[in-house]
Amino acid sequence: EGTLGDRYELQREIGSGSYGQAVLATRLEDGMQVVCKQIRLFEMDDKARADTLTEAKVLAQFNHVNIVHYYECVLESGVLNIVMEYANGGDLAAAIQRRQAEKKPYSEDEIMFWFVQIVLALYHVHGRNVLHRDLKSQNIFIAEGNLLKLGDFGIARVLNSDTELARTVIGSPYYLSPEICEDRPYNRKSDVWSLGCVLYELATLRRAFDGQSLPALVVKILRGKYPPVPTRYSTPLRGLIESMLKQNPKDRPSADAILKSDFVRQHVERYA
Ligand code: ADP
Ligand code: MG
Repeated sequence: EGTLGDRYELQREIGSGSYGQAVLATRLEDGMQVVCKQIRLFEMDDKARADTLTEAKVLAQFNHVNIVHYYECVLESGVLNIVMEYANGGDLAAAIQRRQAEKKPYSEDEIMFWFVQIVLALYHVHGRNVLHRDLKSQNIFIAEGNLLKLGDFGIARVLNSDTELARTVIGSPYYLSPEICEDRPYNRKSDVWSLGCVLYELATLRRAFDGQSLPALVVKILRGKYPPVPTRYSTPLRGLIESMLKQNPKDRPSADAILKSDFVRQHVERYA
């Protein structure tokens, strides 16, 4: 196999987190650009290390056009390098921010074009008994042809074996579901809540739940009220958002049910 440096030329850092860095690299074999996520295993305890390796294996099993493709893992000097597909269009959060700055809302078709791709990715993930746990517009990347790629599969989860609440708050807390706010277990429907927050953001160019502090944010999430979605969008679209942002996880639709609904199916068929 050889070492990482034999096969990839590292170029520049494109992101960093508590785990380590995301580095843009070139695969020497064919010149293709890839991202190398470098996770410092040597700083972890045995359990966290085992979890990370397991998680990397799970990621390697996905094969879906709307999920960032994982090529391989290379363990070198205590650093796990996860080599993956590079999406060169930035993340969805930045795209939404640009629209907000231009005061140019998305059309319903544009929203559904994005949304369908994210649901298809989530359906694929849930069907393999994996929870994303950190679904948000910053973790959805834009590739060539406006293809969306779901990425950042909670690799950070294992960095910290505290409660779900403590873990999630390390990242962006805006997508916290009511159950996580109350420190109840994370489940598929918690991902659906986050998906609802992303759809809301696409429609309003704002976060559904926002606050000056974490306690203020948690109060808002648990109250479950958010500014209304503009009436320029159809009743089914507004109803879909509302259904995903139900307080009780059981009242939210599964990714499967979302895909099977008439409204979403129409849009899926359009892009199929
Ligand atoms: P974390 O959020 O834990 O720091 P991410 O995997 O989200 O880790 O990576 C951090 C940032 O690096 C992302 O927000 C994105 O800007 C960039 N990035 C990561 N993976 C990719 C990728 N496959 N393609 C393009 N950009 C990426
Ligand atoms: Mg991220």
